[in-house]
Formats: sequence, structure tokens, C-alpha cells
Amino acid sequence: MHTSTSQLVSEMIIGGEVVRDASGPSMTHHYAATGEPNGEVPLGGAPEVAAAVAAAKDATAAWEALGPVERRNRLARLAEVVESWGDRFEAVSSAETGIPRQGFKWRLKLACEWIRTYVGYADKVGGDITASADDGTLEYTRLEPYGVVGIIITWNSPLLSLCMKIPAALAAGNTVVVKPSELTPYTPALFGRACLEAGIPPGVVNIVVGGAEAGEALTVHPDVEKISFTGGIATATAMMRSGAALVKPFCFELGGKSAYIVLPDADIDLAVTLASKEMSNAGQSCKFGSRLFVHDAVYPEYREKLVAAVGGVVVGDPEDESTMMGPLVTRAAQHRVLDFVDGARGRGDGTLLLGGGRPEVPEKFHNGYFVEPTVFEEVDPASPLGQEEIFGPVFGMFRFTDEEQMLRDVNSTRFGLSNYVHTRDLRTATRLAANLKSGTVYVNDANRRNPGAPFGGFRGSGIGSEGGRAGLDEFLRKKTIGIA
Ligand code: NAD
Repeated sequence: MHTSTSQLVSEMIIGGEVVRDASGPSMTHHYAATGEPNGEVPLGGAPEVAAAVAAAKDATAAWEALGPVERRNRLARLAEVVESWGDRFEAVSSAETGIPRQGFKWRLKLACEWIRTYVGYADKVGGDITASADDGTLEYTRLEPYGVVGIIITWNSPLLSLCMKIPAALAAGNTVVVKPSELTPYTPALFGRACLEAGIPPGVVNIVVGGAEAGEALTVHPDVEKISFTGGIATATAMMRSGAALVKPFCFELGGKSAYIVLPDADIDLAVTLASKEMSNAGQSCKFGSRLFVHDAVYPEYREKLVAAVGGVVVGDPEDESTMMGPLVTRAAQHRVLDFVDGARGRGDGTLLLGGGRPEVPEKFHNGYFVEPTVFEEVDPASPLGQEEIFGPVFGMFRFTDEEQMLRDVNSTRFGLSNYVHTRDLRTATRLAANLKSGTVYVNDANRRNPGAPFGGFRGSGIGSEGGRAGLDEFLRKKTIGIA
């Protein structure tokens, strides 16, 4: 048993009330580092979604009546509450996902920065004067909230995911029904309490813990005017089908197969350090740069340093401050990744250079869902290892000489989330950035989540953005008014 179990409380927040019983079955939640049960999670379904949507709808008038300045003040207070509850969020998050504590601290800081970004937008929603026609007609736009917005998120970074969506939705004047992943019920429940503590009125933020059935009920609910979703492409496709009859608008933040591109003039130590740091969530990040395209001229040096850095990643107890990588989220995820690695070896997708199995961990963690940090080289770009999102700690290395061919290979997957270019030459950086088909490109950097900049994917990585003004606009609709 780990130290944090007593802090794990699975509950829903509907209309400001704490709900501990649910219409659905309960699910046993396990601590990923040991496989031991954390507790029972009651799963909500269509009845809880209906109650939460009704509460959110009832609360829209009160939230609107508060006005932009007071909404801003409540969001500012929310950032303070989340920050001051940081130790609780850290303990809960580590216990529910197995994310090492070391890897949580920057997420907490970043989550608060996301809230504060939308504190800044809450009183600056604005609108335009679109025309003053010759006949004297005045035309202007109002940017209006949708009303009730459904927020469906995944488990890989629950606090950050909540803060990338909810503050923007509230700043725009919406109320929300949040359906977190059933694998991470605890952080959202605590976040729901933080909203109430911050003086956000009951019903403005509702948390319904449940599985796919609850997500489906939210998607097809006629009073839910928009869905903002973070998760996998297969679920997004199913949601589009379900929402088609109502022409439901979606913002989708989906998966990726991001690439590091290391040019001959790159700072190799920096490129290696940034890549190996990505192991902090065991490769379970949408932006994880799992493909390493390294120029032939620096390949031997990069390869040697990468193997040393990735081989040196400390895997084990999430509660130990020195641990760099924890377990995967579930046993199913562990088996899926190990099976994928075995399949890649069997097919000859690449040559295994490091890892590929279960790591050595202390006896107490033998039933945990760990996978060794793994590196393949000579990967076939067209193979499953070169194309599929693995969502585990697996790198594939690709050696290149020809820039055009490298770009074709990097751009060849169905995804387009992020890419990371490593070069000291500005022309090379801007040329590659222009030719990479992804929503973000960082040069000599990686995995940044600046809340002031739009973050979203091209192609199979999503529709729409989170972050910056674009992230606010996702939650607003435009009305044109003409006065003759
Ligand atoms: P998933 O799609 O299986 O689940 C995501 C959420 O959708 C969960 O809350 C789940 O209960 C719900 N859901 C499942 N079926 C549903 C349905 N039919 N209707 C409505 N809701 C339904 O995703 P996952 O496998 O848990 O998450 C991993 C994926 O998320 C990866 O592809 C990862 O890259 C992606 N992700 C993207 C971002 C981003 O910002 N782009 C961030 C984190 C994770």
C-alpha cells in the first residue's frame, strides 16, 4: 500500500452536491506501481449525465449574470486554490496514475499558468464592429458562450487536461459537464471541490465519473451545445458519428507520432537530454517525440549518448523523488506495449537496441505495470513501429542523409501534432518548420505547453486548439447584429 490511498476519494460533483452513489457498476481502481487496489470507483452513466446537464443549464443564467469581471475574479481564486492544494493534487495524481512525483511538480505549475492565462481573457472577450454601411447601418459582432459544454478527457495528465479546457470554457461564459476518464476519477473530483472553494457557483462545473457510456450520453445530449475532447482517434470517430444527427460541434485533441529531427549542427547533448526527459510519463504523452530522425553525420554520437541517457532513466517507485519514470497506467496498457514491442521485433520493423521488456524493480513493485525504456534503430518508417502511436516508453531511431526524403517520412503518418527540430541554423529551422505538417514545431526545444500559444493537431491529431486566444474562441460563437 502506498502512502496516498487515504486521500483517494471517488465522488462526483453535480449541481454543487457531492454524489457518491452511481447508477452504473463500480470499478476497482489499482495503483499502477504495485497492482494493489486503490478502492472502488462508482461509475456514472446516462442518469448522472442528465442530472449534470440539467444543473449546468440551470447555472448558465447565474454564471452569465456574474459578468466578466467577477468571472475573472473567481477564476483567479481558482488558480490560488489549486496552487495551495498542490500537495493534495500531487499525492492524488501520483497515486492514481503512477506519474512520479518528480514529474508532477512542473505539471502543477503549468496547470496554474493555464488557469491564469484564462483569468486574463475572462474580461476581454470583445467583439468587432464589422461594418458601418453608407445607409448608416451599424453592424457588430457579439461573441457568445455556447451554454452547456461537455468536456471529455483522458487519463494521462488529468490536472493539466482539466486546466487546459475548463478555465477557457468558463472565461467564455459557459458552464461545463466534465466526463473524466474512469482511470483517473480522483483528481477531477478534487478539482470540482476546488471550483466550489473558489466561489464558482454550484452547477457551473459538474464532474461525472464514468466510462464510454457516460461519454456517449454527454455527446448525444441535446442540451450540450459543444464537446471538447482529449483522447484517441477511434473514440473521436465514434463521437462524430454519434453527434452527427445533432450536428454537434467538436474540438478534438488527439494522438500523435511526433519526431525529433537532429541536424549535423545540432547541440547533441541538448537533443538527447530533451528526448530522454520525455520518459517522465512513460511515453504516455500525446506530444511524445517517439521518432528520432538523426542525420548520418552525427548518428554515431547521438546513438551512443541516447542509449546512455535512456539506459540511465531511473524507473520505479513514483513516490521516490529520484524516480524519473513510473509504471504505465494499467496492466492492459503494459501488455499492449510489450506485445507491440514483441510484434515489432518479430516483423523486423527495426532492430532492438535497448530495453524491450520489464525492468528490474524492487520486489514490492513486481506486480506493477512497468515497461523498460526501449530504443529501436534502423526502423522502417512505413512499419507499424514507424507509424502507430504506441503510448509507451518506446523510441524508434531513423538515420537520414537526404532532407527531402526525411521530411516525406516524418510527414507520412496519419498524425500531425508536434515536431522538434534541432539545428543552430536559422534558415534550416524555418525551412523545416514550414514544411512539417504538424500543429506545433519547436526548435531546440521539446514538449512545451505555453498556455498563451494555440496547441492543436493537424490531420488525425485533431480539430481546433487549446491555448491562447484560439483556445478561448473554441468556446465562443459569433453573432452578427445589424442596426439600420
Ligand atoms: P480514449 O479515446 O479511449 O478515452 C478518452 C475519453 O473518452 C475517456 O474519458 C473515455 O471514457 C471516453 N470515451 C470512450 N469512448 C467514448 C465514446 N464512445 N463516447 C464518448 N466518450 C468516450 O483515449 P485514451 O486511450 O484513454 O487516451 C489516449 C489518447 O489520448 C492517445 O491517443 C493520446 O495521444 C491522446 N491524448 C491527446 C492529447 C492532446 O492534447 N492532443 C493529450 C493527451 C492524450
